[in-house]
Amino acid sequence: MSGNKKINFSSGPAALPPEVLQEASEAIINYNNTGLSILELQHRGKYFEAINDESRTLVKELCGLGDDYEVLWLQGGGRLQFAMIPMNFLGEHESAGFIDSGFWAHNAAEYAAHYGNAITLSSSESDHYRHLPEWPASIPEDLSYLHFTTNNTIYGTQFPNVPKTNVPLIADMSSDILSRKTDYSNCAMFYAVAQKNIGAAGITLVAVNKYLLGNIKRKLPPMLDYKAHADARSLLNTAAVFGVYTSLLTLRWIKQKGIDVIETENNRKAALLYNEIERNSIFHSNIKKEDRSKMNVCFGTENKEIDTAFTEFCSKQNITGIDGHRYVGSFRVSLYNAIPLTAVEKMVSVMQEFEHEYLKAR
Ligand SMILES: *Cc1c(COP(=O)(O)O)cnc(C)c1O
Repeated sequence: MSGNKKINFSSGPAALPPEVLQEASEAIINYNNTGLSILELQHRGKYFEAINDESRTLVKELCGLGDDYEVLWLQGGGRLQFAMIPMNFLGEHESAGFIDSGFWAHNAAEYAAHYGNAITLSSSESDHYRHLPEWPASIPEDLSYLHFTTNNTIYGTQFPNVPKTNVPLIADMSSDILSRKTDYSNCAMFYAVAQKNIGAAGITLVAVNKYLLGNIKRKLPPMLDYKAHADARSLLNTAAVFGVYTSLLTLRWIKQKGIDVIETENNRKAALLYNEIERNSIFHSNIKKEDRSKMNVCFGTENKEIDTAFTEFCSKQNITGIDGHRYVGSFRVSLYNAIPLTAVEKMVSVMQEFEHEYLKAR
């Protein structure tokens, strides 16, 4: 990679490991000495078949899933999943439960309301999502499913684990998939857009238990039907070949490091940054301590002027992607798997320098 590569703390599309970028870029010129660019590969040819199969097998292996799960690569981002889930699994006169922990979780419930009853079991909206809503003490048995978002990318909160539930659990894991060990198989289905922890924008990983696929509520066109996608091994239409390949490279990178090591690093990265936010007199976090996300660290300053000054200060140090979401403001530093500890150490030292300069000038 050339010398001017920036440290990119963006929430998504997010930084990818340099090894993945290198290998993906070589494949654009000549994929595996085939004499073809990855961009030219037939999606029904043997080379892509191998990529598709290995990527799906690796997801199962890394998430500890058995053969009762189907792994799909779909298009249309997280939002299409918000729509497909109720289309497939929520009958018109049925109800689904939602844990309203932030913008994406809320959106998923709104989409579901087009197809059946979307019931919010717990919400922290009135606190602007600065803490996690409580996990419901009891979940009505008659819900078709319960939907929740493991990590709230915009607000910077994260559930500590994936609980067992008495109704099928469906989880949006877009911003923390494969960032830690967790009980993936407690979910009847989980999904994650690729552009945060596992690749490039344009594809979404879906893992769904086969028993759910036997329970689809409507006749749907194949492109909207999970069972049809599963039967076609995600090859109903022209696959997003480059996207799946980039995810395969990232999954291989994760496997080589090991989830244990990744989790330990992610814990250290988050602790380092939160400790600095607590210590530094310029910055503060409004997010409840126990609920803070290890993936998206949100924080603010006293006012917009300081925000702007800090953004410029970081930019001079080649640090980018730290703006908070437009709904929240100030700063959000995303610490996905591809962010090395050294990048966080750099961030912390820049925060310390800024504090020093700022206090001197005042
Ligand atoms: C980014 C994100 C999404 C939305 O993904 P799109 O591909 O832009 O639709 C959904 N859920 C969560 C938790 C996210 O972080």
